[in-house]
Amino acid sequence: MLSNFHTHCTFCDGKNTPEEVVQSALEKGFSALGFSSHGYSGFDLRYCLKDTQGYIDEIRRLKEKYEKDIQIYVGVEEESFGQVNRGDFDYIIGSSHYLQKAGKYYPVDSNLDCFQKCFDVFDGDVIALSESYYQAFCSYILNRKPDIVGHFDLVTKFDEVGNFGILENKDYQKIAAKYAAEAVRSGCIFEVNTGAISRNVRTAPYPSEALLHILKKANTRLILSSDSHQADTLDFGFEDAKLLLKDVGFKELYTLYNGEFIPYKI
Ligand SMILES: [Zn+2]
Ligand SMILES: [Zn+2]
Repeated sequence: MLSNFHTHCTFCDGKNTPEEVVQSALEKGFSALGFSSHGYSGFDLRYCLKDTQGYIDEIRRLKEKYEKDIQIYVGVEEESFGQVNRGDFDYIIGSSHYLQKAGKYYPVDSNLDCFQKCFDVFDGDVIALSESYYQAFCSYILNRKPDIVGHFDLVTKFDEVGNFGILENKDYQKIAAKYAAEAVRSGCIFEVNTGAISRNVRTAPYPSEALLHILKKANTRLILSSDSHQADTLDFGFEDAKLLLKDVGFKELYTLYNGEFIPYKI
């Protein structure tokens, strides 16, 4: 049941064209592939779709061209601060990539310098920073109910390489746990995302193991995602992530099949 629904391409900030990504999925023996370019967000045009219709048309063309070999879906990774027209897509991944302060948006995941800027904007107060991130994201999740919640604790992306001490901070752990317990009430599928491992900034997927236990307790449905930005990382770290999930007690994962999210055993 190899599949991935969190996939970037040259229509946003990915390295490969959609067709190159499809070719890679076929070589890897995928049964389904979903594209999820970053949805248009007017306050920061660096990473997002600028030609949404062109993207939709191209993925639909590939869907038809390869329909005998693989199921292809046109999804979108919607930014919580920049919502898209949901009807244009087969599914939406709801993600939060920014901190908002005094009307300005600060990306938390672009690079280490950007995160340092976030840290400075919040005067090094990890707790205020995390509270702000999760409060906004959680309220988006509960109101919008995206099909998939993207990298729930993205705000910890650079914790290992930047030594910010967030993940080990007990007060941070309480805040993340509180908001995870609230966000799962949305009933959304949460993704287990290996993207930052493939980009060498983390050694474990999102969400952290502590949060996975909270998700398990609430019987949250999970989907495995590589958040791939290049064709050769479509299934990066999937086997290790499955072992981790089994350790936590998960017995199944979800995938999109014939247009519906269905479970399969791991
Ligand atoms: Zn993302
Ligand atoms: Zn992504």
